[in-house]
Amino acid sequence: MDYDLIIVGGGMVGASLAMALANSSKRIAIIEAVSPQAAQQPSYDDRGIALSYGSQRIFEALGLWNALAPFSTAITDIHVSDRGHFGVTRLSAKDEHVPALGQVITAKAMGYVLNQAIAKQNNLELICPASVTKLQQHADHVELQLNDQRTITSQLVVAADGGQSTIRKLLNLGALQHDYQQTAITANISTERAHNNQAFERFTDTGPIALLPMTDNRCSLVWTVKSGHEAELINLPEQDFLAQLQDRFGYRLGKLIQVGERHSYPLRLIQADQPIQHRIVLIGNAAHSLHPIAGQGFNLGLRDVAVLADVLSTSDSDVDLGDARLLSSYKSWRLSDQDSTITATNNLVTLFSNDNPILGHLRGAGLSLTDSFPPLKHWLAKKSMGLNDKQPRLSRGLSL
Ligand SMILES: Cc1cc2nc3c(=O)[nH]c(=O)nc-3n(C[C@H](O)[C@H](O)[C@H](O)COP(=O)(O)OP(=O)(O)OC[C@H]3O[C@@H](n4cnc5c(N)ncnc54)[C@H](O)[C@@H]3O)c2cc1C
Repeated sequence: MDYDLIIVGGGMVGASLAMALANSSKRIAIIEAVSPQAAQQPSYDDRGIALSYGSQRIFEALGLWNALAPFSTAITDIHVSDRGHFGVTRLSAKDEHVPALGQVITAKAMGYVLNQAIAKQNNLELICPASVTKLQQHADHVELQLNDQRTITSQLVVAADGGQSTIRKLLNLGALQHDYQQTAITANISTERAHNNQAFERFTDTGPIALLPMTDNRCSLVWTVKSGHEAELINLPEQDFLAQLQDRFGYRLGKLIQVGERHSYPLRLIQADQPIQHRIVLIGNAAHSLHPIAGQGFNLGLRDVAVLADVLSTSDSDVDLGDARLLSSYKSWRLSDQDSTITATNNLVTLFSNDNPILGHLRGAGLSLTDSFPPLKHWLAKKSMGLNDKQPRLSRGLSL
């Protein structure tokens, strides 16, 4: 066997899994199509990622938080409102007795830290640029053919190759796909007032707007619009774009002063029919791509990583990593968190991307009710911090 484990996709999730298994005796290859330093690297772009408190704890347990912290900005408060309706919900780190509800970091900075760390590990080999063209499952191993004609084998293959996963396609695995007919516009914004570590989620009749606190007192914008409208907004002169955003978002951060480079992402839900196959596991976006409305996509993928690394790190050093019992134990552990996060995200999109006036009143009442009912608010905060389900060792701050 060439490797004990091959990870296909060295994006945020695949690279995190490699680092979670870095101190094991296992030989691990990471196959990545695009160099981490390349401008077109799809995982490590300029989008701001809201890391939950649970994700921060996983990175702490991996010994990576000290390197990530200088690029991160704490979220101490979250303000949720609905444009044109009464009712707000406020979540605060103080009420939840945690130092921060989450942290915001650009995907690019995360990629830099993860790839620097991978380069220092003897048991990790990054094969890049390379992609998989053929896959064969045998009784005791999987064989992958790469685009340079090389053939490599391992006990287990983990597909972390994103929403359009090649491994999922090579396996002919079905996936639920739903096009939201929405597109996210991202950019960095400078504002008149300091964000004071507050994150804002504002629902509007044309889609939700998130402004997340960032370094240098900037905010990271995710503005969801109906697909087809994004090109017009992206091409608007700076002050016209800011005026439209100001009209939708309001003046909670004072005047919006400057906008950086704008990017767009078409949004769809993708959920693989099966996360495991004979000697293969799908994790991160390859298994489930979510709408960014609640900032849960990467956090969910990182919880896949923490559980898979936990299951694979048994005390038996001769263990076969592709053993069907290990993979089904991973699948059953992840089922509830994956299903509930996907359903909650999907319901939020349906409820809050809707201009029905009756739903508008119900949303307002729901936000006020949540704000004034501490147990519900506490449950919501715990869910968004990724602390509601059975916690693997890394999420509890324990090394593997
Ligand atoms: C606008 C926006 C905002 C978001 N905000 C948040 C947020 O605030 N919080 C949050 O938790 N999540 C957020 N997300 C979701 C988050 O970006 C994704 O969940 C995350 O990128 C998934 O990581 P991944 O590694 O699974 O997949 P990807 O990031 O898609 O990475 C896949 C990797 O696999 C490589 N690859 C693909 N095909 C092959 C192949 N055939 N062979 C080899 N390599 C291959 C790619 O080059 C890439 O490096 C947001 C998403 C969007 C679009």
